[in-house]
Order: sequence, then C-alpha cells, then structure tokens
Amino acid sequence: MLEAIFDLRNVRKVYRMGEERIVALEDISIRFEKGKIYCLLGTSGSGKSTLLNMLAGLEKPTKGSIIFMGKPLEKLNEKQLALYRQRYVGFVFQSYNLLPTLTALENVTLPLTFRKVKRRERIKRARVMLKAVGLGNRARHKPSELSGGQQQRVSIARAFINNPQVVFADEPTGNLDTKTTFEMMDLIIGIARERQQTLVIVTHDTEIAQYADQVINIRDGSIESITERKAITSRSEMESENVIDGGNNNEETGV
Ligand code: ADP
Ligand code: MG
Repeated sequence: MLEAIFDLRNVRKVYRMGEERIVALEDISIRFEKGKIYCLLGTSGSGKSTLLNMLAGLEKPTKGSIIFMGKPLEKLNEKQLALYRQRYVGFVFQSYNLLPTLTALENVTLPLTFRKVKRRERIKRARVMLKAVGLGNRARHKPSELSGGQQQRVSIARAFINNPQVVFADEPTGNLDTKTTFEMMDLIIGIARERQQTLVIVTHDTEIAQYADQVINIRDGSIESITERKAITSRSEMESENVIDGGNNNEETGV
C-alpha cells in the first residue's frame, strides 16, 4: 500500500441557510494515496466541490477529521491553512481564475512570489513551465488575449510550478470544447504522472473519469462506490480502447 496523503474520518458537512440545514456531505471516510490520480464523480449538487474544498483547506468539516500527511487540517487556523495551500497545494479551476491585469508569465510566477523565490529564478521557472504547457510564445499575453484553452494551460502551469504535493482540479474542462477538453486532460495527467504527484479531479463527466486510477462515485453527499481501474494516459489510448469495444460489438452482431 502506498503512503497516505489524505485520510478522511467520518467527515460531515452541514451548511446553514437561515432556518434550513443542508447536509452537503454525510459520513465520508476515505484514504487518498500519494502519487495516485483520483476522480470525484457525481451529478451537480452531489457534494464534489464541498469535498474538494475541504481537502484544500478552504472549508472546515462540521464533524470528523481530515488528516493531511499525519496532521489534522481542521485544527489549523486561517494563517496556517494559507501556508498549507501555498506550500502543498496547486489549483486548476473551471473558470481559470487568472489575474486579468497580469501577463501569462506573471500569472504563472504568482505562487512563487508567496514562497519568496527570487525574481530572476521565478521568471526562469515560469518560462520552463509555460513551455511545458505549449505556451512558450504567449508569455507576454494577458488572459483576455488568449483563448479559453490557452488560459487553462496558463492555469495548469501555475498549479504545478511549486511542485505541490497535490493538485486539485474542479471541473477543469467545464468551459472547454470536446477537443480542447481532451488536450487539457492529456496535459494535466501527463505532468502529474511524470512528477508522480497526487491529483484530485472533480467532474460529472464519465469520459474524464477514465483518466483516474480510482473513481470515487459521490451521490447525495455520500460515497456510493469506489472503482479502481487501469487508467488511460491519453485520449488516443481511450480511442483505441473504444476500437476494441467496437470489435466486440461486431462479433456479437455477427458482422
Ligand atoms: P457539486 O460540486 O457536486 O455540484 P457542491 O459540493 O457544490 O456540489 O454542493 C453540495 C450541496 O451543498 C448542494 O446542495 C449545494 O447547494 C450545497 N452548498 C454548497 N455550498 C454551499 C454554501 N456555501 N452554502 C450553502 N449550501 C451550499
Ligand atoms: Mg461543484
């Protein structure tokens, strides 16, 4: 068994809206291992983002414990949580969340600014990262001068520049067309695998779930099932699997 990065014990999350109580997560106990790729799969409102936000230290559980490499996150204060995110966590959002007044290069260097890396070194590392995501020639562009797919590439470069222990991606391809979606997934998965980083992807899309080593099906705030699978590493692999499926179908119909 691999070393645990997160260990969740009986996690419950209840939101209060005036008189109303919304149980977003019921009783979640699950272990995440270092270097694996996870997918939280479920329909809208099932509690995926709530779970991700708790792993990221953006929300606290109402009950239960979230242990990150031996330390319970819910015991940290706001300042310690901010440090946790800066040091160990990278984010990819559906809406990219780039700063509009900064260039692509400057956006990518941001996480290093918090870590007090020298300016010359920040720029050097950001250039390498931008190249790795295929945007070496767009360093000086502002987000508004980039396509959606290019903006997401910048945000992927930003997520990984710190070499974080874990990268969280909440519906990272939600605003992208099908072709760009798979390019983006191939890119995120490729970087995470190469660096043996833990990746937690939130999605409602079963095709995206095919990239994960483990799919955690969430329904109404509970874990419905967990599927271990042989993950694909790229879209082309997924297509070749489908070809094999097609072959079987043909056999069945006698064609
Ligand atoms: P998903 O990401 O799977 O679409 P969420 O985790 O965002 O689902 O939400 C789970 C449930 O919790 C939903 O019913 C949602 O309305 C509710 N919820 C999420 N965030 C809040 C909040 N800040 N305040 C109140 N209710 C919330
Ligand atoms: Mg969500």
